[in-house]
Amino acid sequence: MSNCFILLAAGKGKRFKSKNLKQFINYKNKPLFIHSIDKALRSKLFKEVVLVTNNKIKFKNKKIKIIKGGKERYQSSQRALEFIKNKKFKNVFIHDAARPNFSINLLKNLKKHLRNNKAVVPYINTDNSTKYINKNKIVNLKRENVLLTQTPQCFNFKALYKLSKSNKTLVTDEATLFLNNDKDVKFIKGEETNLKITKKSDLNTSTIKTFYGIGFDIHRLIKNKKLYLGGIKIPFHSGLKGHSDGDVILHSIIDALLGSLRKKDIGTLYPNNKNKFKNIRSIKMLNPIISDLDNNNCFINNLDINLICERPKVSKYRNKIINSLSKLMNIDKRIINLKGKTVEKLGLIGKENAIACEVIVSINKYE
Ligand code: ZN
Repeated sequence: MSNCFILLAAGKGKRFKSKNLKQFINYKNKPLFIHSIDKALRSKLFKEVVLVTNNKIKFKNKKIKIIKGGKERYQSSQRALEFIKNKKFKNVFIHDAARPNFSINLLKNLKKHLRNNKAVVPYINTDNSTKYINKNKIVNLKRENVLLTQTPQCFNFKALYKLSKSNKTLVTDEATLFLNNDKDVKFIKGEETNLKITKKSDLNTSTIKTFYGIGFDIHRLIKNKKLYLGGIKIPFHSGLKGHSDGDVILHSIIDALLGSLRKKDIGTLYPNNKNKFKNIRSIKMLNPIISDLDNNNCFINNLDINLICERPKVSKYRNKIINSLSKLMNIDKRIINLKGKTVEKLGLIGKENAIACEVIVSINKYE
């Protein structure tokens, strides 16, 4: 894997007319530019993500490098290419932070075409009748011949670096560099939903629907098993019995999310009579559902969890569990709440023979 993802987020957004830079405004429950970073990381296609920005931002993830941008877009792009020059990347993807809605499938499709091409660029057609001003004459264009190009665009690094280094003119994307120099570009069908957020009104074009999901799970505690809660190991005298690692928190979250997506339940998705799911870590069971949310343009608003057990003490592990969930689900810690509930030493749970969990989640779907 030798691909690098460059995210250009240094623009001033003159057409946006807001005090806040558009790439940092809250969009679908996250800062706008984070959508692109999350997708690049989750695609697992990239060794490094280079964020070009003039704002002070820090990331804990070592895969993300931050560099300062230039005045114009093409200068920011040049700086990023210069920054990765000696890192031996074969391919480089360049993307504008103002397009948060591309899919991971688009990334994969671009990469596939890069095998036989040095430049691959997504485009869409237009539904509008299109005219072109040529000197003083306005001429009609055949709209099927008009390609509206988008990002992410991807390139063979060496080919792009060479063209970019010698370029002194203002170009609005890297495809232009190739075309200006008579180099081939492979154009592939892009996505209608991958729109550029340019004006404030672009933020309000989608309708939002809110859905809720509920989840419950209980597992028996048995000796000689490790205890997993919320994706992390917790020191305890017993672990949870189950076909998988028995992580009641993750199982309840999975059921709640499936509920909000109206996609049946965890047992249908991971039947416990199938050997391939035996001893599976619950993290692996959660991942496809998080992708499902992404692919359906759904974003989590909040997640409320009741962990029902006599011990371990929830307050002792609350932060750790919330941190783990925030990482696993790509969501802000502040939208997760974890409550501990004991049962007055009553029944199976009270005697520390079982742990149960219930979850409610709310998601927004943008259409
Ligand atoms: Zn379970």
